[in-house]
Amino acid sequence: MTKDHTSQSTIAQELFDSYPQHKLSEIQSRRFTQADMFRWIKPLHEKRAFEMTPLGQSAEGRPLSLLKLGNGATKVLMWSQMHGDEPTATMALLDMLNFFANAPAHSVTKTIRENLTLLIIPMLNPDGAERFQRRTAQRVDMNRDAIALETPEARILKETRNKFNPQFGFNLHDQDPRYTVGATKEVSTIALLAPAFNEERSDNNARLPAKKVAAMFASVMNQFIPGHVSKYDDTFEPRAFGDNIQRWGTSTVLVESGGRGNDRDKMFIRKLNYVGLLMSLCAIATREYEAVDVNAYEQLPFNTKNLYDLILRDARIKASEHALSVKADIGINIDEQADAANGNVTLVGKVMDIGDLSTYGAFEEINLAGVSVNENLVRIDAILSLQDIHALSKKK
Ligand SMILES: [Zn+2]
Repeated sequence: MTKDHTSQSTIAQELFDSYPQHKLSEIQSRRFTQADMFRWIKPLHEKRAFEMTPLGQSAEGRPLSLLKLGNGATKVLMWSQMHGDEPTATMALLDMLNFFANAPAHSVTKTIRENLTLLIIPMLNPDGAERFQRRTAQRVDMNRDAIALETPEARILKETRNKFNPQFGFNLHDQDPRYTVGATKEVSTIALLAPAFNEERSDNNARLPAKKVAAMFASVMNQFIPGHVSKYDDTFEPRAFGDNIQRWGTSTVLVESGGRGNDRDKMFIRKLNYVGLLMSLCAIATREYEAVDVNAYEQLPFNTKNLYDLILRDARIKASEHALSVKADIGINIDEQADAANGNVTLVGKVMDIGDLSTYGAFEEINLAGVSVNENLVRIDAILSLQDIHALSKKK
């Protein structure tokens, strides 16, 4: 272990341990609106923790703002929640702003403020956030609109990038919480990517620094969640923002917040984002990222999909009158479903697969040891209430 690495892990540990004092304590749930967000950051703005400039409006007229702090030579642009139901990094960005406002003398705050001009667009898709949906109010996935620029949100992001021409960009998302790490059955809690800027996935002066920062982010994550860090699919997507912002010359790092068994509200993953983003900004501010071995990035295992929320092992299913009963595992995923009328969220299960699921892991596994299950509930794509799942899970 090098000296640099020791000090990096010490600083990261300190940020991790002091997080309860610095986080924005008003955020209690990952379902919040733009109005909530502006109400929370208003006192920080009044403390002059950052400057706030209007950028324009979303399709439904919600104001998009650019938050700016520091006056350093290196410009870094961070944007979150272009998918309205991916708020984990927005929470972490607000935690960061709270930290900057309340710990101005902290060495991390000073390093960042003195060396960087940090530009943040939190919650780029407020209309989607209002509905907790991926797409914008116009029903478009704005992350496929980087070229056509039909949506106001996409135009604002591109105009902001062009106006400031930042050296680094952070494209902040949530991924499917059931992605796994490479050949393992371990959940990917954080996935990173230096998006490709062409079909060939070449390197250039923009992508190489992004790979180094992504590798550094991964090493910080491996300190807290070893074995749960992966690389996102690096296929070039010609319509996506990460790929194009890389192509336009800003070294861009994609951070995807994934899953963790008992963290459905992603409060722990929010904290990991906070630590990882602050450490990345420090590494850019001090230029320590330049010494990172790019192979550490190349060797990150890719995302795979070897996980269900629940696996009932060794169930016995008599599917029809004439078919013999069969011994099979049952893979079930459990998702949040919001009531359109009142917004109440309930958990709903879905049968994803039936058969030999020995290559899959699960957040919860129950061995039924040959017990017969109600065959009417166990059909592919069957929708299950929590009561149904409870009934199926009984060993009798
Ligand atoms: Zn996304």
